[in-house]
Amino acid sequence: MTKIVKKVVKFGGSSLADASQFKKVRDIILADPSRRFVVPSAPGKRFKDDTKVTDLLLQAQAASAQGGDWESVFSDVEDRYRGIISDLALDVSLEGEFAEIRSRLVTGCTKDYAASRGEYLNGILLAAYLGYEFVDAASVVFFDGDGVFDSVKTNRVMGHVLESCENAVIPGFFGSGADGEIVIFSRGGSDITGAIVARAVGADVYENWTDVSGFLMADPRIVENPKPINIITYRELRELSYMGASVLHEDAIFPVKAAGIPIHIKNTNDPSAYGTRIVASTEQYQNEYIITGLAGKKSFSLINIEKDMMNSELGFGMKVLKVLNDMGISFEHLPSGIDTMSVIVSDSAIKGREREILSRISALVSPDNIDIEKGIALIAVVGRGMIRTQGTACRVFESLAREGVNVRMIDQGSSELNIIIGVEEKDFETAIRTIYSEFVQR
Ligand code: ASP
Repeated sequence: MTKIVKKVVKFGGSSLADASQFKKVRDIILADPSRRFVVPSAPGKRFKDDTKVTDLLLQAQAASAQGGDWESVFSDVEDRYRGIISDLALDVSLEGEFAEIRSRLVTGCTKDYAASRGEYLNGILLAAYLGYEFVDAASVVFFDGDGVFDSVKTNRVMGHVLESCENAVIPGFFGSGADGEIVIFSRGGSDITGAIVARAVGADVYENWTDVSGFLMADPRIVENPKPINIITYRELRELSYMGASVLHEDAIFPVKAAGIPIHIKNTNDPSAYGTRIVASTEQYQNEYIITGLAGKKSFSLINIEKDMMNSELGFGMKVLKVLNDMGISFEHLPSGIDTMSVIVSDSAIKGREREILSRISALVSPDNIDIEKGIALIAVVGRGMIRTQGTACRVFESLAREGVNVRMIDQGSSELNIIIGVEEKDFETAIRTIYSEFVQR
């Protein structure tokens, strides 16, 4: 007997920005009957300077709270939906919904309620257009009294409700709190709803449709035409996302990762492109390159500490970190030598507090030398292919030396999944391009 495949598909705001995008979305969904559960975002930007519906709704709420002109902003929202309805010749009316939202705006609704209406209204339209059932997220996604997502209750109730649905549209981004009021996830949160639905229905795959063909091996603003990443593990993705490569809301990973459901990033505007598949383990997939991707960020500082015989001074590192801890500063990396230790922190975490840091560490550990060096960029070279592959680090550093890039810091985690390199900010772009070309044949 062949297994019946179940897919959850989430479409981002740009995929549903207007009627022509709605058509693409419908074609994609109807092309595969296993695409049974659909999670839409609110209409996004149609062109560069356009405003997302979520932002318009937040503007309307803010204007109403300040006694300003919220009505003109809200009519823009209504017009966006009316335009989609008439362009698609949909036999559906949102006028009753608009009246309800207007009355809530007049009496002072919460930001969360206002922001959530973009997805809510879009969900009604998409369900009507597809002929799918509409399931209000407020009845299946729950937050506790502190506004924290309640995954146990959500999974139970949503699983039960969707079990009896052949097909359904569940709007992304929001749910209801302990008092029944609407609560939203952070911005971009429809990605999270999609992951939650995938877990609740036990999907075989969570397809996340957006406006790019998945992740690229490097930032296209730095490397010309970087290759796409076809397969990546959750752990590699976490390393790259932390360093700034982002397509997906970070919190969207956890529900599906726990359930062992792969995520497939696809492009609504180019459905035939493979996209990126995010999986738990890639044992069955062979990667073409040793490295999976490269990402990096500027604006870090090194706190360099030197002291003779540091290595034999018990508790030295702990005292240094205690100072940072007491000042509420979290550190990124901690490379150390026998008599030297450096702590890498982001510039923003220490801004204006440099002198205090220096004097507090000096008072506690009496170093021979201590200074703060600014203008450091960090680059993460990530790849499961590096695990137990000899010579990878050597290739990274040799290629950088050839290009005259001075490496200020190296940190390789014990997992061997990544090598973190610190360079001066002026060398950042050169370093990324150099490492990319070393590992990726063009
Ligand atoms: N519409 C919301 C936002 O703009 C949520 C989402 O698109 O995922 O952030």
